[in-house]
Amino acid sequence: MSTPRSPYPHLFSPIRVGAHTLANRVLMGSMHTNLEEMGEPGLARLAAYYAERARSECALMVTGGFSPNEEGRLGGTAGFLVEADAQRHRVVPDAVHAEGSRILLQLLHSGRYGYHTNIVAPSPLRAPINKNSPREMTEEDIERTIADYARAASIARDAGYDGVEIMGSEGYLINEFTAPRTNRREDRWGGSLENRLRFPLAVIRAVRAATADNFIIMYRLSVLDLVEGGSPLKEVVALARDAEAAGADILNSGIGWHEVPVPTIAQAVPRAGWIWATARLMGEVGVPLIGTNRINAPDVAEDIIADGEADMVSMARPFLADAEFMAKARSGRADEINTCIACNQACLDHYFKDLPATCLVNPRAGRETELKWSAAARSKRLAVVGAGVAGLACATIAAERGHDVTLFEANSLIGGQFLLARQIPGKQEFAETLRYYRRRIEILGVELKLNVEPRANQLTDFDEVVVATGVEPRVPDIKGVKHPMVMTYAELLSGTREPGRRVAVVGAGGIGVDVAVYLVERGHSSHLDTASFRAAWGVDGRAAPPAPSHEVTLLQRSRGRMGSGPGKTTGWVHRLVLLRSKVDMIAGVTYREIDSDGLHIEADGEDRVIACDSVVLCAGQLSVDGLTDVLSAANLPVHVIGGAKLAGELDAQRAIEEGTRLAAML
Ligand code: NAP
Ligand code: SF4
Repeated sequence: MSTPRSPYPHLFSPIRVGAHTLANRVLMGSMHTNLEEMGEPGLARLAAYYAERARSECALMVTGGFSPNEEGRLGGTAGFLVEADAQRHRVVPDAVHAEGSRILLQLLHSGRYGYHTNIVAPSPLRAPINKNSPREMTEEDIERTIADYARAASIARDAGYDGVEIMGSEGYLINEFTAPRTNRREDRWGGSLENRLRFPLAVIRAVRAATADNFIIMYRLSVLDLVEGGSPLKEVVALARDAEAAGADILNSGIGWHEVPVPTIAQAVPRAGWIWATARLMGEVGVPLIGTNRINAPDVAEDIIADGEADMVSMARPFLADAEFMAKARSGRADEINTCIACNQACLDHYFKDLPATCLVNPRAGRETELKWSAAARSKRLAVVGAGVAGLACATIAAERGHDVTLFEANSLIGGQFLLARQIPGKQEFAETLRYYRRRIEILGVELKLNVEPRANQLTDFDEVVVATGVEPRVPDIKGVKHPMVMTYAELLSGTREPGRRVAVVGAGGIGVDVAVYLVERGHSSHLDTASFRAAWGVDGRAAPPAPSHEVTLLQRSRGRMGSGPGKTTGWVHRLVLLRSKVDMIAGVTYREIDSDGLHIEADGEDRVIACDSVVLCAGQLSVDGLTDVLSAANLPVHVIGGAKLAGELDAQRAIEEGTRLAAML
């Protein structure tokens, strides 16, 4: 029987890479998970993590970064490759090969970006995002480092990896040699283009000489540095050609240095918003070129290949969100993919908190050996009350395990807080999570009862009840809070209330910041298409943020920095949007009263009136958990999850994880 034709024929067409033929055009790109730093237990977890993705037909993968030597480590406690790793790492390529895929080890020397004191760079220039200054490399350091790359590649080969990715982008060491911004040397390693390219080319040649001809060398080329003093296109093309001549089998793309104040992978970037940077190199080299950044759906990837913007696409976070991405895409089940929403919350933000990376929409990611479920020993009748993401995760996984699940939702739509969040410019991907759950509900036969708020006596026929009734906005005790100009964030974002032109936002937590972004970007979001994104962020040198749609004042009682919201790797984007849209941010306020003149506050010892037409309350939430006590009194087994359990510190990550973990043990 012939295999049915995939709806993505270009994506699922074979491609030659070095001595190998890959079955499809997708690379699972490198993503540091912190498991790399956890020794053998970490490698065992990585093996299980990659194996699940390999099983689902991901043809080629790259590990997180491993440094070739001590100076190149990303952090002070991180390790670097030593001879014993040839044995220790073996579990990873073995697991991937057993599933029929190939895996490369990424060699990453952090250069001046390393978070420790023994860092080196071509010139002794401190990175703006690092408090430590690098030592200038001597000629001997440079030669030794090239040899370290070769030694590390041979360790990777001995471990069974199919090749290496040499990380030459994002502002790390190799990129620091190629760009005049960071290379001020006057010897044979700096100055002219030929001299600045000497180091990367020497690394590629040394790696090729130390390994076999069938060992894949992927070079990650910075196709766009995005920094002042970065390499112009003609230098990038020259490096691409020379890298091929030096022995690279395939070129991957890197976009922007880490110190760039322009979003490159955050939600603010439209899908495939940077592919044009790779497309400029198509036809310049004979080896395959990989395009990257914010590619999270098979149709987007298919169009890139079909339109000749790249030969392959790299996706990293989408494989955390759904291990079965490729198998679902090939078999025409794209509507079943759990889409990466580009939030960075559980992956990159975890990395910066020294936690193992996982995924907000898929808490199993990186925990494949621990968070597992199988068919339930006995099918129970379960009621899940509340179809926010906690309830959705719980209901669908419980149904997957064979339970008979009824899901009650008071609203006419599923989604809870995600219905509101998807209204925020740049958070349109949240709608994909709801599409995913709607499809899961259909496939698994969960009985969905919309517009129903069950009373306890309607639940007595169930074996167990899960209360996932979520949260409601807190209405703070401010004099005049019932004034007609006042609305909650839920009323605003659900479209129930319309704000005036001048808006005061009470509370500058995650939701207050989101609401401020919503107000200033209303009707002209720069996150939906590449042209407006490029214009808004000045990628072409024409920084022209659109005029804000509302005049916004954002307030909080506590002192300190405002406007970032909760995410380490995305907060700065929000803050920049607010600053560029002239949002007035006032910390350390005492709210006095709301009346027709506006919001009366005291700040810095002075009374002020914020003249406004609307006040939006973003002052946190309260749990909606009225059912819990009644059900417990009725002696029914009750489980409470998500915001209904604890409103403070609520976030979608905790909600989905609680729903998942409960369903796994019911
Ligand atoms: P939050 O981050 O805890 O912020 C609540 C805000 O309300 C604070 O700024 C607080 O600041 C203020 N507030 C609290 N009690 C108040 C009172 N009685 N009167 C006046 N102001 C009061 O909560 P949130 O913004 O509601 O967000 C809820 C959860 O969703 C959070 O965990 C958040 O991290 C998450 N979230 C995440 C994202 C994301 O992008 N990752 C986006 C949105 C929300 P002061 O006390 O200083 O005034
Ligand atoms: Fe994507 Fe967010 Fe999951 Fe990271 S945590 S993989 S950005 S959905």
